[in-house]
Amino acid sequence: MKTSVTRTRAFKYGIAGAATGLVYAIFAFVVEERFGSDYEVMHIVLAPILAGIVAYVVGREEDRIHQQSRMLSDAKKKFSALTHDAITQRDWNVSFHDPAIPTCWKAKNCTAEDCPSFGKEHMRCWLVAGTYCRGEVQGRFAQKLGDCAKCEVYKASIERDPINEIGENFNSLMWALREKEDMLSETNDELQKQYGELELMHKQAREMADTDMLTGLKNHGHFQQHLKWEVERAQRYGRPLTLIMLDLDYFKAVNDQFGHQKGDEVLQWIGKIIRQEVNSNGYAARYGGEEFVLVLPDSTAQTAMVVADKLRLKVKTVEAETGLPSGFVACSFGVADLPHCASDADSLISAADSALLFAKRKGRNRVSYFCDLADTELREGDFDRLHSRLEGASLQTIRALAEAVDASDAYSQANTSSMAKVAIAIAERLGMDQEQADALALATRLHDIGKVGVPGSILRKKEKLSQEELAIVQQHPEIGQRLLKEMEQIQELIQAILYHHERWDGNGYPERLKGQEIPVMARVVGIIDSYRAMLCDRPYSKALSPAHALEELRKGAGTQFDPQLVGLFIEVTRETGELELSQAG
Ligand code: GH3
Ligand code: MG
Ligand code: MG
Repeated sequence: MKTSVTRTRAFKYGIAGAATGLVYAIFAFVVEERFGSDYEVMHIVLAPILAGIVAYVVGREEDRIHQQSRMLSDAKKKFSALTHDAITQRDWNVSFHDPAIPTCWKAKNCTAEDCPSFGKEHMRCWLVAGTYCRGEVQGRFAQKLGDCAKCEVYKASIERDPINEIGENFNSLMWALREKEDMLSETNDELQKQYGELELMHKQAREMADTDMLTGLKNHGHFQQHLKWEVERAQRYGRPLTLIMLDLDYFKAVNDQFGHQKGDEVLQWIGKIIRQEVNSNGYAARYGGEEFVLVLPDSTAQTAMVVADKLRLKVKTVEAETGLPSGFVACSFGVADLPHCASDADSLISAADSALLFAKRKGRNRVSYFCDLADTELREGDFDRLHSRLEGASLQTIRALAEAVDASDAYSQANTSSMAKVAIAIAERLGMDQEQADALALATRLHDIGKVGVPGSILRKKEKLSQEELAIVQQHPEIGQRLLKEMEQIQELIQAILYHHERWDGNGYPERLKGQEIPVMARVVGIIDSYRAMLCDRPYSKALSPAHALEELRKGAGTQFDPQLVGLFIEVTRETGELELSQAG
């Protein structure tokens, strides 16, 4: 474009020079034709003058073009710098100023009162945002491009140099960008604020959904989630974890005699006391109704028992706080821990809940540990309750319960794990598969679980049992079966538990089955159970040596025991060396 303009001008100048030369030649020709040929001097003077004039005009034009080209180059540099700054720094405050253009306040003779931009060099009215000009309030861009044509300052600047028009357009564009960015940032701020408010509301809603409204403690749903999380954490780091479950004693009586509002007041106070007790290291929730739970991470059962007992005493203060007569507020506590009583969150709850049942049965207003059941005397009706509590329990919990029962039974303290090994070896000899062998081994541990229903006083009695007491003890296979009847994992060994006191000659209990009618697992468990009993002191006889006990088994073969299995048992105990082990145990 530039080249074609220059060419056009050059062409024009060429034509003009040629035309001038031609005019002068015609002029010279006419003069010489008319007046003769004595005009050399005139030619000598006029020709250079004309050539000089043409050269001057061309030179001036050249100067103008040169000056414009320099201005263009300066403007280009300036624009490049401005746009670079604007883009890299996202700063839309840049503007293009021609210092030669007067500021509007100067051009219009404004004062500081007329114009807030007064005194600021290069300030143009269309750059004055949200202010006023000559006493009139201006909106941002009040005098933007559309109105600029009316403005003398603008017109003067454009007339002076067209680059200024581009510059001022650029400035307006930058303002538009800045305005957009300001708007975006305002919207963003508003959005951030709204997001913060929503987040707070969401947190409050979640807090409400997790909180028990009456006591302010966490509720059942939150507890279930939290316990799972704590159990995972404890198992990952191999740390202990204890669960305390408490239930108000005879709380119905408070409602019945003093009304539900008083009952609610009591629950609120209990919640407050529990909250104070757990403070920052533990967790507490209302499990439901008048039952509460405390989760104590990194805490052993012994520590938890101390915490529970402290709470038990503190709870008594609620009577005075609520104006209830003495004796109306008391709590029973069940304690269970990982890893001793359970293997997951559900079975930990089952264990603590069972321990709570034991506390109630021991007379209420006390703390009971799941693995410490020596004095618990369960009654008819409790087995179904215990059964439903154990429904969600894992094998580990059942085993912990069985071991706790074992520990409370003076007869069964001989080495349990060595007997489980013998059971597995016998299972192999009998051609049982792995699953059956495991079931048999488990049966040697669980077969006496029903003794949870036999009073500890009878179990630990050193003297010979009366007929009545014997009848109570003899219920334990059926109690065991009732407790475990719906546990899917151990269906196979329930028969072993139920029939482990049947005799080969049909004189056993509970159903007086005979010979092969007795399930084989029950026959094996019966032999192992008798062998272990003989190794302990009994009311009517002292503990026997392992060799002596084996001799007794041999004597009972064919009457009390399956003769073939007795032979196998003796063989296996000898081969596996469990004879010595059991002796040591
Ligand atoms: P136990 O010692 O065997 O636990 O006896 P208990 O009376 O405490 O037990 P029971 O399960 O028979 O009764 C529990 C009572 O707790 C009955 C129910 O009305 C009351 N209860 C449960 N939730 C609330 C509650 O939110 N407010 C009030 N006031 N009472 C409640
Ligand atoms: Mg209660
Ligand atoms: Mg209750």
